Parts: sequence; structure tokens; C-alpha cells
Amino acid sequence: LVSRKKKAEDTIITINGERVGDGTPSFIFGPCAVESQEQVSKVAEAIGAKGLRMIRGGAYKPRTSPYDFQGLGLDGLKMLKAAAEQYNLAVVSEIVTPHHLEEALPYLDVVQVGARNMQNFELLKAVGQINKPVLLKRGMSATIDEFINAAEYIIASGNDQIILCERGIRTYEKATRNTLDISAVPILKQETHLPVFVDVTHSTGRRDLLLPAAKAAIAIGADGVMAEVHPDPAVALSDAAQQMDLNQFDEYYDALMKFMKQY
Ligand code: PEP
Ligand code: MN
Repeated sequence: LVSRKKKAEDTIITINGERVGDGTPSFIFGPCAVESQEQVSKVAEAIGAKGLRMIRGGAYKPRTSPYDFQGLGLDGLKMLKAAAEQYNLAVVSEIVTPHHLEEALPYLDVVQVGARNMQNFELLKAVGQINKPVLLKRGMSATIDEFINAAEYIIASGNDQIILCERGIRTYEKATRNTLDISAVPILKQETHLPVFVDVTHSTGRRDLLLPAAKAAIAIGADGVMAEVHPDPAVALSDAAQQMDLNQFDEYYDALMKFMKQY
């Protein structure tokens, strides 16, 4: 059902007035994790000031170590929703288990399924039964075919509002956190009718690569870019090395807008 052979036209998903997949790149910015009301409100203000329509922020965080910050859960989602409402933004946030879906759904506009859950089939079936868009991230060791099949689980359960997100895969290369599989973008665009995003933060894991990676994503035909922004990355409770501060966010966004005008 996600195949181009089944449906030739691009799927366009309208989120808070933004037409994702219509040919003009969309942007999702926000902190790695929701840490406080003040933190998310600052980021929401900066995003809203650019006329953007979406904010991200993790509340249920899938951390590698059980001793790392696990996220604020539902309280965090409520903070994110309050900040989003103040600046007319849609909320994008990850859910890690179907058990959280019911409590979280009222505070979510886009449900993110993270890389670690790309083949959590019960979660895929659960988000297939809601009528909100799903941002599905590629598993760090998933092939493109497995990624497409994960999306197929969602659409087969009844939800065709799916955004695919390339977020880097695990290779032998250590210079970046993951290896951004940039060619996955045009392959996914050819094989499926779904919008395709690139998460430049988790793929590169390097602040200095966020801009070139986003340019590459846009140039190769991505429908959108996701990147993390935090008011004070040095004290961030997760992903401190790669989040942009608010000044860097301004410069980054200006540079990307200039780059896009060349096309
Ligand atoms: C995230 O976007 O917050 C995240 C945890 O990313 P990923 O699932 O791609 O690792
Ligand atoms: Mn992160």
C-alpha cells in the first residue's frame, strides 16, 4: 500500500496548515528532550518567530543506559503542548509503547516512532489505528526494504499519514554518530508515495555537520529536515554535543533559506 505502484501521486500530509510533501521542504525543530516548561517555551518562541508550524521534543526517551535521563513522560508532553499552543505549533513527539498512546494522544499532533522501535510491530499496528500523522524513523540497522515494510504495517492497519525519516544507519565509520544514508531519500521517494524527511541531528551527531547535511537532504529531494534546538545545549540532559542553541538556530535557518532560494 505504500508503494508507488499502488499510488502514483505523492502523499501530502497537512499538519497545522503545513502541507508536508507538497514539494517545498518542511522543518521540524525542537529539543532532544522536554526538560522544563521554560526550556520548551523558549524554543517554541524561536520556532514560531520563523513562521514554522511544528515543534519536536521527546518526553518518553529511549535511552541507551537505564541510568540516563528517561524523559518527563506525560508531564513533559503537557509542557510541550502548552508551549506549542502559545506559538501555534503542532507537537511531534515519540511514543515508545502502545500503552502510552491513549494518555499521550491528546497532546500529540504527530506521533513519532523512533529508530529503536521501527520493528516494534505492535506499536506500528497501534499507530496504524489512530487518525494522526506518524513520523516513522528508520532503524539504525534496518535495510530500506525493512523500513518500507515497517511503514506498510502502519498503512495496513488503516493509517496512510506516514512520514518516513532517514536518521542514519550504523556502519564501521566513527567520524559521525551514524552514517547518513543520503541515497535512501531518492530510493524511498521512488519506491513509495510517502514524504521523506532527514534527521540531521541523530544521523551526524555533530553540530558542524547539521547545515551541510540539511543542504544535501534538500538537494537530493527530501520533503523535510529535522534538527534539534536547545536554549543551552551545554546543560542539555541528552544529546548535548549536537543540539543548536538559539543563535545557531537563527544562522542555520537563514543559511538554509538562502540555499533553497538557489533552486
Ligand atoms: C529522537 O528523534 O528523539 C530520537 C531518539 O531519534 P532516533 O529514534 O532516530 O534515535
Ligand atoms: Mn536527540
